[in-house]
Amino acid sequence: MDFNFHMPTNVFFGHNCIERNAEILKPLGRKAILVTGKTSATACGAENDIKAELHAMDISFDIFNHVECNPSIENIRDGAAMAQKIMADIVIGIGGGSPLDAAKAIAVLATNPVDNDAVFSGNFSRPVLPIIAVPTTAGTGSEVTPYAILTDKTIENKHNMSCKAMFPAAAFLDPRYTASLSRDLTVHTALDALSHAVEGYLSKRATPLSDMHALNSIRIIGQQLPHLIQNPTIIDSTIRRQLMYASLLAGIVIAHTGTTVMHAMGNPLTYFKGIHHGRANGLLFSEYLKFAATANEVKVKTVLNRLQLETLERCDELMNQLLGGTETLDMVEIKAFSQTALHAKSTRNTYFSPTQETIERMYIKSFGLDAVSTSAKDS
Ligand code: NAP
Ligand code: FE
Repeated sequence: MDFNFHMPTNVFFGHNCIERNAEILKPLGRKAILVTGKTSATACGAENDIKAELHAMDISFDIFNHVECNPSIENIRDGAAMAQKIMADIVIGIGGGSPLDAAKAIAVLATNPVDNDAVFSGNFSRPVLPIIAVPTTAGTGSEVTPYAILTDKTIENKHNMSCKAMFPAAAFLDPRYTASLSRDLTVHTALDALSHAVEGYLSKRATPLSDMHALNSIRIIGQQLPHLIQNPTIIDSTIRRQLMYASLLAGIVIAHTGTTVMHAMGNPLTYFKGIHHGRANGLLFSEYLKFAATANEVKVKTVLNRLQLETLERCDELMNQLLGGTETLDMVEIKAFSQTALHAKSTRNTYFSPTQETIERMYIKSFGLDAVSTSAKDS
């Protein structure tokens, strides 16, 4: 039983956790850049809470509020240029996974002005600026991972930038900030967290400690998902708190295990079809579990058990109820996306070692093309 467990982020969880623990910011810097999306950081109250504490501590700041969803390298470079210009010595990301990932990448590129090829090398010679993460969605776990998932237009896909110094120095998780999420974003981000926990549990890199967090996260999300179906307009603070906690646990999992083929398959769905990251994983979730079961039925049964589902068919039903219908995909897209997913680094973590054919089958079944492809074969 050999394993490493490294979690350098100081995690503060709970209502008003920024106000109660802001002193941790004091020694980190005198000039902050706040990295956010367009509106949600302000609308949910997180940005104001941070600003109040910065004012009180006499830390000055400027705001980069142009982070795109699934931020591109170009978008990050704009943020890094601003960080350099204002001589920021601390980077505070406030938002969903996109602003948090952007903050991490900006913290690297502000001090390491490397070219695009070197962005994904993981080797940076100069110290990375300290990063603070304030999540406003409950899904990515980015607040406790060393990853920034960037859109790379040259490869027409998303790409993982990572190095140990990209772990945030501190993360403030206040579930109140997620109260403004729509029902759909709540579902999609929850399914991202669930994918992290399940993929981590089914990863070749899983450890006893990551499994402990993964199974706990799966159980908590499994308890919350029925509420999102039964009362889609009433997502109360208890559900929000549980989802944020489960997302944190799942983030700790993938910080150690990485993701697997499901995320690799989801990325082209986001890049080419504009499908939200968590929704993309959700659409693939059931078929992924079915293929995983062919290699390790016991582990998949444990996942189902934690989700309080008797069978894989019940999992199909649950995902259909949560996600509604699927987007449309054709066979040309499936062939191309399968190639991309097969060669993605995260696919190597999958313990059932998927082939191009396996990946194609997962797409075909997830997007209901099995009837079409069977009749095409028959004709
Ligand atoms: P997101 O892309 O950050 O945001 C999606 C939408 O949600 C945006 O329109 C955003 O608005 C809005 N939003 C955010 N918080 C809100 C709130 N409290 N109330 C209302 N609307 C809110 O979504 P995400 O799912 O959190 O992040 C997805 C990204 O994270 C992807 O790029 C994915 O690859 C990445 N990711 C990273 C990791 C990691 O370990 N680093 C893991 C998984 C996923 P604004 O634009 O106004 O902010
Ligand atoms: Fe994810």
